[in-house]
Amino acid sequence: MLDCTVLPKIKRNVLLNPGPATTTDTVKYAQVVPDICPREKEFGAVMKELGESLVKIAHGSTDTYTAVLFCGSGTLNIDACVNSLVPEGKKILILNNGSYSSRAVDVCRYYHINHIDLKSSYTKPIDADTVAEVLHQDTDHEIAVVYCCHHETGTGVLNPIREIGKAAHDHGCTMIADTTSSYAMVPINLETDNLDFIMASAQKGIMAMTGLSFVIGNTKMLEESKNYPTRSYYTNLYMQYSFIRDKGEMHFTPPVQTIYAALQGIKEYFAEGEQAKWKRHQAIWKELVQGAEKFGFKPLINKEFQSHLVLALLYPDDPNFTFETMHDSLYAKGFTIYPGKVSDFHTFRLCSLGAIYPEDIKAFWQAMKEILSEMKMTIPIQYNT
Ligand SMILES: *Cc1c(COP(=O)(O)O)cnc(C)c1O
Repeated sequence: MLDCTVLPKIKRNVLLNPGPATTTDTVKYAQVVPDICPREKEFGAVMKELGESLVKIAHGSTDTYTAVLFCGSGTLNIDACVNSLVPEGKKILILNNGSYSSRAVDVCRYYHINHIDLKSSYTKPIDADTVAEVLHQDTDHEIAVVYCCHHETGTGVLNPIREIGKAAHDHGCTMIADTTSSYAMVPINLETDNLDFIMASAQKGIMAMTGLSFVIGNTKMLEESKNYPTRSYYTNLYMQYSFIRDKGEMHFTPPVQTIYAALQGIKEYFAEGEQAKWKRHQAIWKELVQGAEKFGFKPLINKEFQSHLVLALLYPDDPNFTFETMHDSLYAKGFTIYPGKVSDFHTFRLCSLGAIYPEDIKAFWQAMKEILSEMKMTIPIQYNT
C-alpha cells in the first residue's frame, strides 16, 4: 500500500449529502494499485476477503449468508432483489413510507411483478403491527416476500426492521431490507434482526468509493431462487450468486480499483469498531441538531423517529432564503448540503455519514452563520406556521 504520509494531501470536502460520503485519504489512495486482470487468482483472494468481511459486518456466519457483489449504484441491489426473489404466482409486499421504498414499487411496475404497495406516512416509521395484520389476512399465502427500507434516507425515518422481519417470518415470508444507508453505521445483526436479504453500496457506511454494490443474502434462499422466474439478465441475483459460488468472481467485469478502496474502508471500519463508529455518527447528528435548534431551523421528522443519520430541515419562509444561494455559498466553503426528497415538503438534508467528525459540524455551523448574515436572513429562522 502507498504511504499516504508522503503523498500529496487531497483537498478535503465535508459531504453532508446522503452519500457518497467523505472518505479518508487512505481509502482514496487504496485505489492506486498495479494494474491487474480481475480474473487472476490474486484478485480472487481479494474478492473472497471482501465478501466474507461484508457478511461479518452484519454479524452473519459465512455458513449461512453470502455476499453477492455487483458493479453499479445501490439501486441495482433493489432491482436485483425485487426482480429475483419473487416466486412464480406469488406477491411481494412493499412497505412504502418514503422515496426509496417507492423505488422498489417502481421496480415491480417495470418488471410487472405482482405486488402490494402498502403506503404509510412519510414522516413516521412503519407500524409492524399493521404489517402483521396485513400478513394475517393473507390466508392463501399469496405474499411470499416482505420488503422494507430500513432507513428512509429521504426523510431520515428509521423503520423497525426487526419487528417487521419477525412478522414476515411468522408468515413464512422472505424478508428483504434496504439497508443501503444504515449498513455499517447502525449495528445490524442478520439473525437477531430477522433479515434474509440486506443490501448496501461501498460509498455509504463503509466510506469508500462509488460503483460497488452488494446484497447479503441467506445462502439457502439464494439456492432456492434458482427456479424463480427470471426477469432480468444483468441483475439476476441467482446468476451472479452462482457465478461467485462456483468461480469466486463476479460474472462481468468488477470495479477493480473501487474494490481495493472498499477493502481499505472495511479495514478502517473494523479498526474504528462498530459501536465507536455508530457513536461517532450519532455525535455528529447531535451537533447537527444542536446547531439547527440554535438558528431555529425546524426538522421535518419528530426526533423520536429519526435515524440519527439524516436531519431533514424545512425550508425557511424568509423571503431572502433560496436553497441555491445557501448551497452554493456553503459549497464554496467546502460543505455540501442536499435537497430533500419528499414532494409534499420543501426540505434540505444534513447527513452524518462518512469520515467526518463533530468538529466538522461546528465549523459547518460557523460557516452557516456567516452565510445567513450575507443572505440577510432573520435569526431565529422565520416560519409562517
Ligand atoms: C443511497 C440509497 C440507495 C441507492 O441509491 P443510488 O443512487 O443508486 O446509489 C438505495 N436505498 C437507500 C435507502 C439509499 O439511501
